[in-house]
Amino acid sequence: MTGDDGVGDGVNEHRIGDEHRTGAADGDGRVRAGRRDLAVRAAVERGLLGPGEPIVGLLDVVGIRESAAELRAAFDAAVAPGTPVLHAFAVKASPLVAVVRLLHKEGIGAEVASPGELALARAAGLPPSRTVLDSPAKTPAELREALALGIAVNVDNPQELARVDALMRSASSRSPLGIRVNPQVGGGSIGATSTATATSKFGVALRDEGAWEWVVRAYAERPWLTRLHAHTGSQGIPLELMARGVAETYALAEEINRRIGRPQIDTLDIGGGLPVNFGSDDTTPTYAAYVRVLAAAVPGLFAGRYGLVTEFGRSLLAKHGTVVARVEYAKSAGGRAVAVTHAGVQVATRTVYMPREWPLRIAGYDGQGRPKAGPPVVQDIAGPACFAGDLLAEGRELPLLEQGDYAAALDTGAYYFAHHYAYNSLARPAVHGFVPDGVGGVTFATVREGQSLDEIVAESGGAHAGALTNLRAPERR
Ligand SMILES: *Cc1c(COP(=O)(O)O)cnc(C)c1O
Repeated sequence: MTGDDGVGDGVNEHRIGDEHRTGAADGDGRVRAGRRDLAVRAAVERGLLGPGEPIVGLLDVVGIRESAAELRAAFDAAVAPGTPVLHAFAVKASPLVAVVRLLHKEGIGAEVASPGELALARAAGLPPSRTVLDSPAKTPAELREALALGIAVNVDNPQELARVDALMRSASSRSPLGIRVNPQVGGGSIGATSTATATSKFGVALRDEGAWEWVVRAYAERPWLTRLHAHTGSQGIPLELMARGVAETYALAEEINRRIGRPQIDTLDIGGGLPVNFGSDDTTPTYAAYVRVLAAAVPGLFAGRYGLVTEFGRSLLAKHGTVVARVEYAKSAGGRAVAVTHAGVQVATRTVYMPREWPLRIAGYDGQGRPKAGPPVVQDIAGPACFAGDLLAEGRELPLLEQGDYAAALDTGAYYFAHHYAYNSLARPAVHGFVPDGVGGVTFATVREGQSLDEIVAESGGAHAGALTNLRAPERR
């Protein structure tokens, strides 16, 4: 993690240049906030949220569809006619089957990085041709399955390439195959999500001695290596740095094809990583802004000589999710107002452990689910877990939250409530999708049931209760 990164005061700026902050969809942001308010109100009225259901995740289906359409439109407007483009949603950003299926129906594929994520994508109905497998630790069995299915694979390192060599010798595969490179262009404001630093664990580190030549030779010796992949980082990477990573990758592909004497690399996978604005309801930067930066930095990218794969995650989902939690108690400590809610480290792990890097906006609602009004009061919004640092927000100015109110953590549609952390055996909350019903209300659909106590016990080894008491070393004589 980096220290002084210019992120603070509860607003995440990500060092995005001013040009990317303007031209935002302010109107869209307001409309989205309106839908969110309607959904919170309706969730309370329907009992999806209340004294017995003190926490819930809500997904704005209209917003998700809009983001998918904006992504497709941004690239469609830039690429030469007929250029194949696969936008593969990074499933890790929201590993919920109904979300992956919704995006599939909106023309978005899936990027998976574990057997679990591949299983989710298959359960969502993704065909192998719309699926890309990345991961720094693929086992031989995973590679064999991916190649048998015809799923695209980005090979991470020389040892993995040796495994793929062996598989390709023993059977043919329709899988498009490529190598992931680390362009080592540097990190952004958040160390943990910067994947193109000199020592990042991902891909072949291009600037290391001999690496560039090794990659060129790997392609020259393997006509079935037809793709090249880089993902420069997630959240906190300025657009210009992301584009520089893509430019390095593009230059390498050009050199490989020139040295081989034919366009063996036919597709570039440029990864994901578009940052999300956690500071307001505006969607900034937009996909269109990133495409403009890419077109300026890598003019040949959209010329039609390469098909494109993208792997966006956070930017497709973050602004469309809200976790809402009941204020169980409102108290005061050392003169500070503290709202003790049911949302904490179990649904906002990154924010609780790294509050400076991952600040979240909090919106207050009253006991009926109406936006809370009143003069701003400095207060802490705490979670239910048994450690002092379990705070969603510290020293935040909001209308005073009172017992029975609700606190909503905004922009939590990616890497938050879908990423449960089982601290204190706190239950995974239910997740519901919503759309306006056209007559002033909201229609809900369950995406994931809340976790039951029986499930918690079962997942905690309830079937093996006697396992340790029955295990005895032989008596010593
Ligand atoms: C995490 C990840 C992504 C998605 O990143 P976002 O910041 O969510 O867009 C894409 N590709 C790879 C290889 C990743 O690890």
